[in-house]
Amino acid sequence: MSYALVTGGCGFIGSNFVRYLIENTGLHPVILDKLTYSGNLDNLDFITKNNYTFINGDICNQELVQKLFTKYEFVGLFHFAAESHVDRSIDGPKEFIRTNIFGTFNLLQCSLNYYKKVKNNFRFIHISTDEVYGDLDETGYFKESTPYNPSSPYSASKASSDHLVKSWGKTYGLPVLITNCSNNYGPYQFPEKLIPLMIINCLDWKDLPIYGDGKNVRDWLHVLDHCSAIENVFENGLINETYNIGGNTEVRNIDIVHIICDFLDKNRPSNKGSYRQLIKFVEDRPGHDFRYAIDSSKIESTLNWKPKESFFSGIEKTIKWYINNEAWWRDIQTKKYKQERLGIKNS
Ligand code: NAD
Repeated sequence: MSYALVTGGCGFIGSNFVRYLIENTGLHPVILDKLTYSGNLDNLDFITKNNYTFINGDICNQELVQKLFTKYEFVGLFHFAAESHVDRSIDGPKEFIRTNIFGTFNLLQCSLNYYKKVKNNFRFIHISTDEVYGDLDETGYFKESTPYNPSSPYSASKASSDHLVKSWGKTYGLPVLITNCSNNYGPYQFPEKLIPLMIINCLDWKDLPIYGDGKNVRDWLHVLDHCSAIENVFENGLINETYNIGGNTEVRNIDIVHIICDFLDKNRPSNKGSYRQLIKFVEDRPGHDFRYAIDSSKIESTLNWKPKESFFSGIEKTIKWYINNEAWWRDIQTKKYKQERLGIKNS
């Protein structure tokens, strides 16, 4: 059997990726996840347990990670584990430095020790974000060559981890590849991020808090398109290369909220009136990037990858998923997230 180590496989993108790997490759995912507030074993429901192995642990734990490399002959490491929320990084940056920077360093060192011994076709795939590039005004796109210019502790910690990964490739010859992706949406996204938060607040008839004037622009990609891009980079990407991944779909935050409200007005009308009346503009996030836009022509032309899902069909499917999976998010709200403020989270 061929094994792949998947860090953060119980989070939003990681759990979708585990499912994708099982359905589309012969690889057996070994998931290493600390189950922080955003990690959830329920995200792996509906996957046959024999098809993956779950290890509850921290990517910063050198002994544990080394043990995994001794036990399994990995052909790849897919590194998703991270502290991932910008607002949380502003409130408490320390854990972002520990997990995103030190944790990545630990995985690189353990991978290198393993690779030097085994010398198989191992590849280290580092999953990163377009936020490392900073922000744009109305024009222009992030290319792989765009200089890094992170704004938040989150994006700065991801930028640092990208640099570490690149240097382990150049200096030590570890076979590394990096992906920088735009905002993802889809099933199993923790309900602090913009799209699930807005859907859930509508369903609960609660305020829809929007930072500033809501005109900030993000590029959106369905999570399964992100998964197919990562798997393609693993199979076909060139060592030491970076690939930008995006959906060619720039949407303003306020427009996303309107789309959600209008869909629910039509398909799940409330006797209290239109959901749009719940919209509340609130004080902007410090250092809030204005616009992200990705030029993904490199992965499209060299690896023949293209997103399959259009934003409008993808967002409708996502809204329906949250309507049909109320038990999943209610459980998070009551058991894990009770003390946290479900405030404004326009990532
Ligand atoms: P998430 O917060 O939903 O999941 C993170 C997972 O990592 C959780 O399961 C958590 O338990 C685990 N984790 C955190 N710290 C850990 C540690 N020290 N040891 C082991 N496990 C740990 O995040 P996500 O949205 O799924 O993002 C996954 C990756 O993709 C991140 O690296 C993020 O930077 C990147 N990314 C996310 C987006 C997006 O829109 N969500 C876009 C581009 C890139």
